[in-house]
Amino acid sequence: MDSFSTALSIGTYIQSLMPAFSDALKMASVLQKLITPLFSGPPEPPRNKVTVVGVGQVGMACAISILLKELADELALVDVVEDKLKGEMMDLQHGSLFLKTPKIVADKDYSVTANSRIVVVTAGVRQQEGESRLNLVQRNVNIFKHIVPQIVRYSPDCIIIVVSNPVDILTYVTWKLSGLPKHRVIGSGTNLDSARFRFLMADTLGIHPSSFNGWILGEHGDTSVPVWSGTNVAGVNLQTLNPDIGTDNDDENWKETHKKVVDSAYEVIKLKGYTNWAIGLSVADLTESLMRNMNRIHPVSTMVKGMYGISDEVYLSLPCVLNNGGVASVVNMTLTDEEVAQLQASANTLWDIQKDLQNV
Ligand code: NAD
Repeated sequence: MDSFSTALSIGTYIQSLMPAFSDALKMASVLQKLITPLFSGPPEPPRNKVTVVGVGQVGMACAISILLKELADELALVDVVEDKLKGEMMDLQHGSLFLKTPKIVADKDYSVTANSRIVVVTAGVRQQEGESRLNLVQRNVNIFKHIVPQIVRYSPDCIIIVVSNPVDILTYVTWKLSGLPKHRVIGSGTNLDSARFRFLMADTLGIHPSSFNGWILGEHGDTSVPVWSGTNVAGVNLQTLNPDIGTDNDDENWKETHKKVVDSAYEVIKLKGYTNWAIGLSVADLTESLMRNMNRIHPVSTMVKGMYGISDEVYLSLPCVLNNGGVASVVNMTLTDEEVAQLQASANTLWDIQKDLQNV
């Protein structure tokens, strides 16, 4: 066959294939026509996944705050109430255009949480009228017995941030149930109390809260310990300006500010039914230090046995250095004898409850 005849027959052959090509082209989906894959295979696992367990008021405030800070490449939500869970997931997904977290998933099955770097636990029941604190704790322990092993099963390398109350006890319970090393189980602790303190103090002084340095340590809630000896603005220690600051002898009654911190949760709950925005923002701030390996210091609940003369296994808030491994270290604050005594009292109160818990 000469070259002309060869070309002709190839041309005829191609022409005979054309209908098949155009049919195939017609049958291909828009997706197939638009996108040419460069590799096939399972997708890469997420690198910065965050899970929030419990999609109530607090869980969703944590979720939106984490999303808006652009900390996660995937967000997973878990709850036991399936309709609410799906509704919250869809509502967030519909905001995807305005977010930088490309994947938002939800399920009551914990497989959806697989490969999380950080898991925030906000699930739990609230106190019922006439119910003792111990009874509430025991009910939440029973819930945590279901939640915590599932978290660890799917994300054995994660860091858990416990938010549910009573947070210090439930952080201890999570540590026990998870089998994780203590530096990877953190309670949000007095991070919120300290934020409230810094807001209230700064507001009185007419400055921004970030410019007022002050720490609330110990138990989150009623027995929290304000470290008046360390309060300062631009390095000026307030106790040097008013040696009685925070004491009963103080003419200016700064002690009232700490009382307002303790009362503020009750006040907000009385006014709107729950607290959520400040705790959500504060949890996102912790998440940022962990995710971005920042070595920032936060007052969070950590295992304090052996510190400040505390001999029981309790979780209490101290200034902790947070990085991508969890709690890297604890700052040894210079506390007055009275402040140490208050911390020890917090520890005793918590241990009194913890020692009677069943099945931990
Ligand atoms: P909420 O009732 O609005 O939400 C709780 C959610 O937990 C609900 O959606 C519920 O379905 C879910 N849940 C219950 N059992 C579950 C389980 N086994 N698995 C998964 N999800 C489950 O309550 P909230 O206002 O969001 O508060 C949540 C917790 O956070 C409470 O314990 C509250 O006291 C605590 N809290 C802590 C701080 C803090 O500073 N640590 C601040 C505010 C609130």
